Amino acid sequence: MLRSVILAAARSPRVERLVETAPVSRDVVKRFVAGVTTDEALLATKQLAHSGLRITLDNLGEDTLNEKQATATKDAYLELLKALDSAGLTADGKAEVSLKLSALGQAFDEAKAEANAREICVAADEAGTTVTLDAEDHTTTDSTLDILLRLRRDHPSLGAVLQAYLRRTEADCRELATAGSRVRLCKGAYKEPEHVAYQSALEVDKSYVRCMNILMAGDGYPMLATHDPRLIAIGEDRARWFDREPDRFEFQMLYGVRPEEQLRLSHEGYSVRVYVPYGSEWYGYLMRRLAERPANIGFFARALVSK
Ligand code: FAD
Repeated sequence: MLRSVILAAARSPRVERLVETAPVSRDVVKRFVAGVTTDEALLATKQLAHSGLRITLDNLGEDTLNEKQATATKDAYLELLKALDSAGLTADGKAEVSLKLSALGQAFDEAKAEANAREICVAADEAGTTVTLDAEDHTTTDSTLDILLRLRRDHPSLGAVLQAYLRRTEADCRELATAGSRVRLCKGAYKEPEHVAYQSALEVDKSYVRCMNILMAGDGYPMLATHDPRLIAIGEDRARWFDREPDRFEFQMLYGVRPEEQLRLSHEGYSVRVYVPYGSEWYGYLMRRLAERPANIGFFARALVSK
């Protein structure tokens, strides 16, 4: 119920204005967002890399409504990739980027979004790193996977994201568990209707395990994106079972969420990649993080009253 309310607020421009102008917002945002500028994102990336973690950077933005905004997002990625390369952060796949096609214009011009994503893939190739296409709400899944497959013809390292809460995802895992295919598996962060998505936490977790089994048994490169201790333990078990060495799969977690677990896994010898969002359009992202965990609302409220 609370999750639904917060996810509805994530789509409300009125609540967005309220939250963005609240004096507390900057403090709360800092926990989950690495900063607003490319320099701030680079600093966070360097710190994480220094601790032995890998990074995927997301220039925050979604629901882009015009071409100018979409081009600005694309340009921000090109600038970021150059900066990562110059700072020596792209070597050995240390830092890569994650993209939302909606931020590149998918909602109003699918071909433009694809062209923008292609330019970013070319820049990533030049910088010696990879790109992953984030998954958004289910109305975009077919379009995103179609674009992924077309872009992969020229950029085979382009990563996909699949959401375990969608009923279709087991089949998508089977399709994508092929040699060289990088697939991030997450639970899914949007409010989805019953006919397309499992609704209970147990059903979502069971689907995650079934999908993980397919990916870990397959020929691709699984990226297990979760903070859930039970799923991480199952991931460790499957890595042993399927003889997956640390260079043949990775764990992924969000910036600011369970940082001590990120380091524990890394110290155990696993590859761990942290998803680092940055940029001024943090509202939708922050609201999805608050929806995931009621304790985060307490964190937000405590910061409000302590002001
Ligand atoms: P949960 O059951 O939500 O959480 C398990 C435990 O993890 C909690 O009990 C808590 O201890 C901790 N935890 C989880 N979330 C938080 C939080 N916000 N704050 C503090 N503690 C927390 N979703 C998409 O729909 N599309 C994407 O492209 C996408 N990309 C992602 C990339 C990465 C690297 C990660 C880690 C997640 C991504 N997600 C994406 C979000 C994902 O779908 C889930 O919403 C999110 O990861 C929470 O699910 P969970 O597996 O951590 O399990």
